[in-house]
Amino acid sequence: MTGTSSQNDRKTAQKAVHARRTPPKARRSGKTTGETTDTTGANDRNSIRPRFWERFPLDRLKPAEWEALCDGCGKCCLNKLEDEDTGEVAFTRVACRLLDDATCRCTHYEIRHQFVPDCVTLSAETIAANAYWMPETCAYRLLAEGKPLYPWHYLISGDRESVHAAGASVQGITLSEFDVAEEDWEDHILATD
Ligand code: SF4
Ligand code: SF4
Repeated sequence: MTGTSSQNDRKTAQKAVHARRTPPKARRSGKTTGETTDTTGANDRNSIRPRFWERFPLDRLKPAEWEALCDGCGKCCLNKLEDEDTGEVAFTRVACRLLDDATCRCTHYEIRHQFVPDCVTLSAETIAANAYWMPETCAYRLLAEGKPLYPWHYLISGDRESVHAAGASVQGITLSEFDVAEEDWEDHILATD
């Protein structure tokens, strides 16, 4: 790969952001949901309260609710470049080796750290530190910033496919990191996140 002087200068100024996220299996530690009197099963770890994302802060979500927040866009599994001077993060279409381009899901979630040890586990405690490199459309980032979910989020639309139909996912646009050398990632920066 050749490049202009300015391109090479820019590449030098950027560093790769290897921080990634996992599907929302993260759990809060040492806290309870605060729900104490429910007799309908709604206090179960695996139950989901109606419109929970509007009614409870992130640190009061049940594990199943935390997990349900993920819209399935797959954007967080793209490799990113961070400008060392400005801190600006650019998303590339070069995806983690475990991302399925069709489903936008991790192909080996349960054992992902065997292959991708730096895959970040998001939780209510870690979202603040990681939000800056998460896509602006990410449900976790939106709620952490006090913003509403997008209409295409399946919790709103009722359709898991609506994230793809809205063009809000990475479905069909990624390249595997197996096929693109890290020094060439800049050639695949996406216009928006
Ligand atoms: S291992 Fe890769 S594909 Fe799986 S959740 Fe982490 S970044 Fe995404
Ligand atoms: S960026 Fe998309 S896939 Fe990743 S955690 Fe956020 S909502 Fe889920």
